[in-house]
Amino acid sequence: MTNEELWNRALSEIELAVSRANFATWFKDTHILDHKEGTVTIAVPNGFAKEWLENKYHKFILKSIRTLIPEVRAVNYSISTAADSRNKNAQTKAKIEKEANFNNQEQLEFKDFYVDPATNLNPKYTFDNFVVGSFNDLAYTAALAVIKNLGKAYNPLYIYGGVGLGKTHLLQAIGNSIKTNYPEKKVHYLTSEKFSNELVSSIQNMTIHNFKEKYRDVDLLIVDDIQFFAGKTKTQEEFFYTFNTLYDAGKQVVFSSDRPPKSISDIEERLRSRLEVGVIIDVGEPEYEARLAILKSKAEEKKIDLSPATLEIIASLVQKNIRELEGALNIIGMQTKHKNRTLTADEVKSVLNKNARPKNAVTSSQIIKIVSDFYDIQEKSIFERTRKHEVVKPRQIAMYLIREDLQGSYPYIGQKFGGRDHTTAIHAYLKIVGELKTNSKLEEEIKLIRDKYQQK
Ligand code: ADP
Ligand code: MG
Repeated sequence: MTNEELWNRALSEIELAVSRANFATWFKDTHILDHKEGTVTIAVPNGFAKEWLENKYHKFILKSIRTLIPEVRAVNYSISTAADSRNKNAQTKAKIEKEANFNNQEQLEFKDFYVDPATNLNPKYTFDNFVVGSFNDLAYTAALAVIKNLGKAYNPLYIYGGVGLGKTHLLQAIGNSIKTNYPEKKVHYLTSEKFSNELVSSIQNMTIHNFKEKYRDVDLLIVDDIQFFAGKTKTQEEFFYTFNTLYDAGKQVVFSSDRPPKSISDIEERLRSRLEVGVIIDVGEPEYEARLAILKSKAEEKKIDLSPATLEIIASLVQKNIRELEGALNIIGMQTKHKNRTLTADEVKSVLNKNARPKNAVTSSQIIKIVSDFYDIQEKSIFERTRKHEVVKPRQIAMYLIREDLQGSYPYIGQKFGGRDHTTAIHAYLKIVGELKTNSKLEEEIKLIRDKYQQK
């Protein structure tokens, strides 16, 4: 296994267990610098990342590497200028600091990223902490039927719905419940991507036989996010056989996806028809009562002390998904602690609006158009080489927004604005970041511009 493969595989384990925000912040631009005599050295782009990996994730990183190469005894971290230069422009100090602050408050605990190596399940996802409302009660009921009657009730069980609506939680709760109540049963959880990656490397390493055995020898196989099977012919073929073997042996299979089987494009008909032989259930968006119940339960779990009224405001403002609901709870909890008093309704609203990310997909061209309209300048002047103040400012703001909201690279942004150098884009971005610290009028303007693209 090359260092790159090793790290990619370790990362795909880590990714499953760490929240997306943390993963993106702390594992971005890391790679294995060296691996010899049982010691792996990981290159990190800066001191922040080093500190976080050492203090918060070390055990977990070591564990993920050792499941791949048991001989590894130690992992250490080194700030690498190579990692740095690859990423020199990507992260400004301000941004890193902001994220570090945010994550510090998130109070990571070991349980957030622990995964049981035997099953690949994170024990924190249980039925006990799963709130049931009318948006998900069918899925919940089906899950209970499955654990009572493994392989016999609903097989396969197929649950679908949008992001952050609790699919992974429910799937893992099924696995954890079986593991707790029937320890002799073999349970395995994985994502479709992991299945595919493992298949590819087992072909390369000529261990395909082990691969087949591993997944055909379980009582309960849980495959999350199967929409990613789309377009992967070889994976689909192998999975088809795995599924048939399990199904014929009366073993239980549970799937999740962001859409029903009929809407997954680029999937073989014979596999699609297998996905459809059991029960297909969707989870919708949580209703107000469910959102409130979820907030109460999470607040208790995370020991975030908020007044009932505050929880109600959050429940009425954040409607789309449960992941966002948790994020909002964390932010408000943090601000309340910071201010050492209950926030007013208006404060809660303003904090949540400020942190709201644009929900609608917006393109860089649309951002440029919206910004030009907002400042009432001609769109084409933004691309010109003029230094007129009335054009420079909107140009910088548009660059900033493309960076912040679309994660556009600096070279891309430079290019987009009439073939400018990437340093111009960096300069613009930092300029706005700096101004936002003191200029509340600018902050308000940027919020209004973002509102415009939310409405699109
Ligand atoms: P999905 O897989 O559908 O994208 P997740 O299962 O990852 O969503 O859920 C996102 C977050 O919301 C997780 O932290 C999960 O624990 C929490 N969550 C989702 N549904 C519920 C629920 N019904 N009760 C409590 N927490 C939930
Ligand atoms: Mg999921």
